[in-house]
Amino acid sequence: MSNNENQNRKSKIENQKLIILGAGESGVGTAILGKKKGFDVFVSDNGAIAKKYKQVLLINEIPFEEKGHTEAQVLTADVVMKSPGIPDTVPMIKKLNELGIKVISEIEFASQFIDATIVGITGSNGKTTTTLLTHHILKNANLNVGVAGNIGDSFAKQVAENQHDKYVLELSSFQLDGIEKFTPHIAIITNITPDHLDRYDNKFENYINSKFRVTMNQTKDDYLIYDGDDEVINEWLKNNKTEAQLLPFSIEKSVDKGAFIRDNNIIIKINTNEFKMGITSLALQGKHNVKNSMAAAMTAQLLKVRKETIRESLEDFEGAEHRLENVLKISGVQYINDSKATNINATFYALDSMKTPTVWIVGGVDKGNDYFDLMPLVREKVKAIICLGADNHKIVKTFGNVIDLIVETMGAEEAVKVAYKIAEKGDTVLLSPACASFDLFENYEDRGRQFKQAIREL
Ligand code: ADP
Repeated sequence: MSNNENQNRKSKIENQKLIILGAGESGVGTAILGKKKGFDVFVSDNGAIAKKYKQVLLINEIPFEEKGHTEAQVLTADVVMKSPGIPDTVPMIKKLNELGIKVISEIEFASQFIDATIVGITGSNGKTTTTLLTHHILKNANLNVGVAGNIGDSFAKQVAENQHDKYVLELSSFQLDGIEKFTPHIAIITNITPDHLDRYDNKFENYINSKFRVTMNQTKDDYLIYDGDDEVINEWLKNNKTEAQLLPFSIEKSVDKGAFIRDNNIIIKINTNEFKMGITSLALQGKHNVKNSMAAAMTAQLLKVRKETIRESLEDFEGAEHRLENVLKISGVQYINDSKATNINATFYALDSMKTPTVWIVGGVDKGNDYFDLMPLVREKVKAIICLGADNHKIVKTFGNVIDLIVETMGAEEAVKVAYKIAEKGDTVLLSPACASFDLFENYEDRGRQFKQAIREL
């Protein structure tokens, strides 16, 4: 950026009023960045602000309010940053929209201040895994790369405090709803299945369009990497336009340009350059992880990482907590924590990757699950079901005629003890709930940790 441009931007920002709605990780990060860049910042939260964030605001001398928005104050904004948790339907957002006041997301706000190369990863499942995997490869290649999204410090805070040449960003649809100019050089859509429809007027189409915003500003010099086996994605691409160069990955067919499977090897073809690696040596097993590995490897190739580094990184990646995480093997029984599987699609892939008879722990708060999608896998792999939820009637009703042994439990410890009794040498005990956790737990991390703790105490 030239000095002139810098100065122009500065004078535009001076004394501009930035109002931040929601004082969580992204809100507080945006506040720090906004203040540093010369905005007049005010943070407003409808609920109570967590102590650790309040302290950050106080230390940085950023004014804030909590347990309610002062409308007159919020409406003086030149620009509003809305935290991803706030739906468009709340009265304050409606009012801002009516008045034509710009409401953007954290990534839109933060990305205007950097020239870094951005890899933006979205999709219904696999975002965190693919983000961490991509970051791992780029880091092993000694690139100066940051990672943000649902992971660690917010993107905005990193832009304020320690700039990187490259960022790998996990992007939710809510972050994407609030972009205008944000443009990843490489965008990845891992897959699209119905999720969060309550925030999209219960229209799957709206949610799909939201995911595809990741490519809306891309040009012919940018890339869109996506699941070429995903009908929803293919259909959108047939009917809509993107300027980006398309790079599909597929485990079902070969592609001219992109990634596919040949003789149990991942093959990546980009231009004349071919990358090859055996599937069995991947650190992350399961079909879904082959796809995640393909997406991460293609990204690394586009960023000119050596093939050897890509191979080594895909082999030694340790995986992410709560995502098909191997916990312990006790008396020949493998225990796996997949607490992050909060929808049917994620659990589908977990069951699909089971190689031995499985005692399946499932249940919680379901977001309109149709368990019948899992029926073939359950028939093939599952020997017993342990329900872990306050209300299990749907699970019992769906699988009652298929699985002889279904036990209802009300806590992680009880579920693990029952599993221990049922499982025999050579079996797997899999926690892959297909549901959210807040009936019995604080969140999915709490559920996963309690599960692991109970296993360690067996
Ligand atoms: P997200 O960040 O999109 O929620 P995660 O990487 O945290 O995704 O994984 C969430 C769940 O989905 C885990 O249970 C994981 O095993 C499963 N999963 C990971 N990658 C995929 C994929 N490509 N397709 C379907 N499920 C996946």
